[in-house]
Amino acid sequence: MPELPEVEAAMQLLRRRAKGRTITKVQLLHPSLKRRVRPAALRALVGARIVRVERRGKHQLLHLDDGRIVHVHFRMNGDWEHGKSDAPLPRFARAVIDFDGGTRLALVDSRALGTLDVHPAGMELALGLGPDAADRGWTAEALGRALATRRGPVKPALLDQKLVAGLGNIYAAESLWRARISPTQRADSLSDKQVRALRSAIGAVITRATGSRYTDDDTVNLDVYDREGLPCRRCGTSIERITQAGRSTYFCPHCQVTREP
Ligand SMILES: [Zn+2]
Repeated sequence: MPELPEVEAAMQLLRRRAKGRTITKVQLLHPSLKRRVRPAALRALVGARIVRVERRGKHQLLHLDDGRIVHVHFRMNGDWEHGKSDAPLPRFARAVIDFDGGTRLALVDSRALGTLDVHPAGMELALGLGPDAADRGWTAEALGRALATRRGPVKPALLDQKLVAGLGNIYAAESLWRARISPTQRADSLSDKQVRALRSAIGAVITRATGSRYTDDDTVNLDVYDREGLPCRRCGTSIERITQAGRSTYFCPHCQVTREP
């Protein structure tokens, strides 16, 4: 699944290829996308210029010159592919935006779970997101206050985009491993020291991954995610996998232990 660093890489592509460009055509090719945007709203995008590209959590916002917003979320495995307008469409192209100058961006998504919406001008977007995981101004104190309100285990809490925006299943596991915190420890029982370690681990994990694409194909570089049965890179103990809130959690049972506050 694209995580924050992959979405940030997609943002850089959009800033290079779409910002400042005028839309000449938009096509939605998959029924699930066609249901989201009325044909008239789609046609009305022609002639609009993309003036700003913004990421909020894993949401991508293309701001148009008249205040409308094209809002894209990759969900499970979407990505953008840039090319010439007259080139054959990539396999699994679900939406295509053509620009002046003869170029286009295709939203490529084999599972077709990605979303594209058009928001009218002058509407505040309520995405229900907490502080951004990549925001340097997000403090350990703020993380600690948020975790203190959660009674469940820390790992599912980290996946809640209202607690912190942009952290997904892979980097939540990586961050907990780095901070030596058990994924099953209760969120509200973390000590101040653990919270500080977790905040700095999230920062390090996100920074290290930024610029890389497609975590799914690149799990060799991860410390704990998808490494069930393999030796912990820190202590050599076999990595274990459990299921929490329907998602796989990978952890080292030796160096990620639950500590009493
Ligand atoms: Zn270990």
